Formats: sequence, C-alpha cells, structure tokens
Amino acid sequence: MEDNENAKLKQFLETNWQNYIEKANLNKENLIDQLKEYGLDSKFLQKEYQDGKFLYIQSEELGISLQLESNILNCVYIYGGRDKKFKQYKGFLPYLINFELTNGDIVKFLGEPSTKNGGKLTSISIAYEHLGIEFTFGTKNWSEKDSLIEFICLFKKETNGQYKICGNCKNPTNNQCSRCKLIYYCSASCQKEHFQNHKEKCKQYAQQFSIQP
Ligand SMILES: [Zn+2]
Ligand SMILES: [Zn+2]
Repeated sequence: MEDNENAKLKQFLETNWQNYIEKANLNKENLIDQLKEYGLDSKFLQKEYQDGKFLYIQSEELGISLQLESNILNCVYIYGGRDKKFKQYKGFLPYLINFELTNGDIVKFLGEPSTKNGGKLTSISIAYEHLGIEFTFGTKNWSEKDSLIEFICLFKKETNGQYKICGNCKNPTNNQCSRCKLIYYCSASCQKEHFQNHKEKCKQYAQQFSIQP
C-alpha cells in the first residue's frame, strides 16, 4: 500500500506542468480529479485569491501551488524550499533547472531575460516569455548575482515576436541557438560573446533531450 502511494507521489512529481499548461486546458474539476487519482487531494489546500480572479490549489508540503484563472489552470508556482510556508518541490523542473542555481547562473545559460520585475522593495524576478518561465530570487538588489531561486512560475509560452530577443544584447531577432533552441542570438558575434557562458548547459540540454542540431 505504502509503495503504491510512493509510486503515485513520484508520478505526480514527474508531471511536466508545462505540458499541462500548454495543452490540457485543465479546469478545476479535472485538476481535482487528477489529484484524487494520485491520492494527493488531501495534501492540497484550497483558497480563493483576494481579488477573486485567481484560485489557488496548493500543497505547502509538496511545495507547489496551482493557479487557475477563469477556472482553467493558468500557471504553476514551484517553491525552492526557502519560503516560510512552502517546502522545496522535489519533482521535475524544465530546462535543467534546479534550486542550487543562482540568478547569475540562469542568465549565463538562458541569456538576458525578456522581462525583469522587482528590485528595491520587492524580490527581483526575471522571465523568459518564450520559454514560459519566471524565476524569483531571494534578493531585492539587481547588482547581486549569486542569489538563489525562491520560486519558479511556469506559464504558457509566449511565441509573440516581441519576446524574441538576443540573449546577449537584447536586440530583436528570430535566430535560435541551433543546438538547444532555448536562446536567441542576433548575430554571430553576439553568439560568440555569450557562448562561453552558455555552451556547457546547452550541450547537456541538447543531449538530454536529444535535440538534433
Ligand atoms: Zn545580439
Ligand atoms: Zn544552446
């Protein structure tokens, strides 16, 4: 019985949430059915967000919060274990991300983010809209480069052109790194300049997900 429960938990933790967000159009009822199937419905607390627009179904124990907008799964918050309430999420994370990475490490691998938020009064966060991921770090200071991830938000990828920017200089461009396809470069010189930072994880990613150049 316990082995069966562990197997279900493992299965749940291996869920690729991005797939769910991109494809499944999960509504609240489906989502709760899904959690019941994993035997995890009791681990998830439910509360309405104050403005009434969002509903969160969350498990502090598992370090995950599922956000629904208009009754459809909209984004998934995944916690790094540095939150007062949420423990560290132990499951699958996309793009070779783990909670030992700092903001500096992430920019090295994924390049300049398409969106930056926070600083001064709130924690800094960077988003890669074309990858559907936002990272929030444990610092309010943009000059700090070694701050660890507090939490990650996974959302629907934005294929809109405005988010296709060079990972080195932020110029608009459509040219992806041919190996990992996770980052854009506007020119050979920008690619060359940034590639020293990018290449190790790029290779690892391409191998792991067997992406052909
Ligand atoms: Zn560039
Ligand atoms: Zn690459």
